[in-house]
Amino acid sequence: MGTVGAMAGAARKGRADRMSGKRARRRGILFLLVGPSGAGKTTLLRRLMRMRLGLKRLVSTTTRPPRPGEKDGRDYRFVSDEEFREGIRRGLFAEYAKVHGNLYGTKAGEIDSELAKGRDLIKDIDVQGADALRRRYADAVTIFVLPERPADMAARLRGRGSEDSASFRRRMETARQEIRRAADFDYLVINGELALAAGELRAIVEAERCRTRRRWRSTAWATFRWTS
Ligand code: ADP
Ligand code: 5GP
Repeated sequence: MGTVGAMAGAARKGRADRMSGKRARRRGILFLLVGPSGAGKTTLLRRLMRMRLGLKRLVSTTTRPPRPGEKDGRDYRFVSDEEFREGIRRGLFAEYAKVHGNLYGTKAGEIDSELAKGRDLIKDIDVQGADALRRRYADAVTIFVLPERPADMAARLRGRGSEDSASFRRRMETARQEIRRAADFDYLVINGELALAAGELRAIVEAERCRTRRRWRSTAWATFRWTS
């Protein structure tokens, strides 16, 4: 539906809700956790999901092979190059990119249907993917994650033990480019002490949910008829 059509539809629905006294449900919020490899996005996301805030984690599709301990469908949907390219041909991806030599992408269908249902979504993504999703979902909330000190990032990436030396160098170079873009995002979370950073993330989610423009229509005040 185009913007004008969507607005007319929303206005009709708003009128119908007022007449029936039913509160409107807001659209879901799309939270994007952005930052260089090794910043701690995955770790933070796992912590946040344990807080049971009612967020749904969006799982990316990738051609990268699973790391030990990673599960298909939970961490990523692991697919072959051929399957990924078929998805591109069929226009299934809201965005996709080649990162460190592998394809990563986010399917549009799930985002659109969950946001329409009012479900808040979260996903971790690299800078170029976040740029692409922001073009499509202008209301997305973007959170940039960084370790406290530059040396921590290299140490964490080494400590994870998942990269050979070529991949490590590639990730560090990409990180340098990405960190220059930090100021383009809505929030900055410094992932030094994990519990503190996770607490900040939680605060961001809760504050965004309290924004008047998102919350007002779903309150009893939006349909209340003042009599005097
Ligand atoms: P990303 O998803 O951003 O690439 P990961 O979540 O995989 O990063 O974290 C990279 C490494 O750093 C992992 O080994 C992880 O256990 C570790 N790590 C993440 N956050 C912290 C933290 N706050 N303090 C110490 N180590 C951390
Ligand atoms: P990793 O291989 O370490 O899991 O992820 C490598 C990079 O790909 C990370 O910076 C991660 O944020 C990014 N990434 C994960 N999923 C997606 C996605 O769906 N699209 C894009 N563009 N990047 C992604």
